[in-house]
Order: sequence, then C-alpha cells, then structure tokens
Amino acid sequence: MDISTASLPSGGYGYKFPTVSVSPMTFLQITQYLENLPSDPLDKYLYDVNNLVREDENIMDCYVMDVDFLIFYKKLITVSADMSYSLKITCPDCGKVIQKTITLNNDIHFKQIDREIMNGAVIELNGHKYDVVVPTMRNFKKVFDLYLRYKKISDLKMIKTIAMIGDFNLNGNQIENDVLGATHNDITLLLALRELYYDRVEPIEIYCPNCNSFEDDGNGGKRRKNLAVRVDSLIVDFFRELCNNSPIDGSKILFK
Ligand SMILES: [Zn+2]
Repeated sequence: MDISTASLPSGGYGYKFPTVSVSPMTFLQITQYLENLPSDPLDKYLYDVNNLVREDENIMDCYVMDVDFLIFYKKLITVSADMSYSLKITCPDCGKVIQKTITLNNDIHFKQIDREIMNGAVIELNGHKYDVVVPTMRNFKKVFDLYLRYKKISDLKMIKTIAMIGDFNLNGNQIENDVLGATHNDITLLLALRELYYDRVEPIEIYCPNCNSFEDDGNGGKRRKNLAVRVDSLIVDFFRELCNNSPIDGSKILFK
C-alpha cells in the first residue's frame, strides 16, 4: 500500500519520493513479529523500524517524526481494514469505560508544521552553539547504533534528543554531556525541540459524558475537559485488536 509522503507529519518536506509503501501484516507476519519482538524498548524500536524498512528502503530517508507515525500506521492497517479503530478507555476521574470509534482522517491530527521549522535551527546549550537538524532515520541510526551497542542510555527520547544535534561524530561526548547535564532553561529548550521535531501527532481528545466537566480555557472562559489519549499507546495486542476491529459476519462462515 502506498502512502503519500505529503500526508505524513512532516508534510513530506524535502523528500525525493512521493510515496512510501506500508502494508498490513499477514497472519504469518504477525505471528513472526510477536515471536521475535524484543522486550528491551530500544531493541523493540529498532525492530519496528526494520519491519518498515524491509518493505520500503526509502523509509530510512524519512524523518524520524514520520517513521514514528508509520510504525503506528502499519499497526492500524494491520488490525483494521477501513482505518477506523475502536478504542475503550477508562475515565480516570469516575471509572466509566468510554467506547469510541476513531478514524484516521477525522481523529488523528498532526501539529501544523512549517518550512522554517524543517530547515533546522541554531541553539545554544551549556554555552556551546549547535546546529539542530531534523533527523532522518538514517541520521538517527548513526547515533542510535552506538547506544544500542553500549546501552549507556536506555531512554529512547533522550537518544532522540541527542541525535537532533548535528556534528555528533565530531563532538559526541560534549553533546551527550550538554544534553544529559542540561539544567533550567536548557531543559525547557530541549523539551521544546523534542516537541517540534518528534512529537507531531496530537493526542486524541475523548470526552467523558459521565463527568461532564469543564476547565478554564486560559482566556477567561470554559472549555470541555477531555481525556487525552496518546496515539502510539493504542495498539498493544494485535490479535485482540484485530478481533475487535475486523469482526467476521455471518457470510464468512457457514456451518454445515
Ligand atoms: Zn468520567
């Protein structure tokens, strides 16, 4: 299945290819996927990336923000034929189980991105000036491979943060120290960059009809208080989700 790069979180900015190929996993592939799924979060991420790259090598040249979305997308099209997804969440305030069917087009939104952001930035961190680049999977892997080998940092977000900063090859130790040792507004800066260059998928807002609660909107008014669900946390059990989202109807099986 081809997905247009213009429809990815980056908007396809700067890509030399108009589409990437991502297909639903077959029964055999799901079984193999689950059999070999690593438990270590870093290994698991690499495993998910390789699962995409095996189908389309161009995914190595996609931005990490897009690859992260494609990891979810492949799971979504594996469990659902029509890109709708039925989710169940428990309201943390009243305990009500809320059921909602979401669709890719209507409920999953990316934060607006503009070209200026995609051209990168110059930052000052711990008194050092650095170029920040929007990492492609190929850029990211150069840094990621080192951490996979030595397991010095186990937090994927932290490795992604380090990988945003150019010249890691020349200045790796200094960059690592400046990121890991960041304090005060340097932390705020790094969190803002993470949000800009990685976290591009908006959480899905779900309303609890039982609580019916409102909160201040920051402008003197009130807005409905919603529960925010992270998209990447959605699909955890392929077969259970498949059965929920791709039910069989009476025409599929006729008992003799
Ligand atoms: Zn509630």
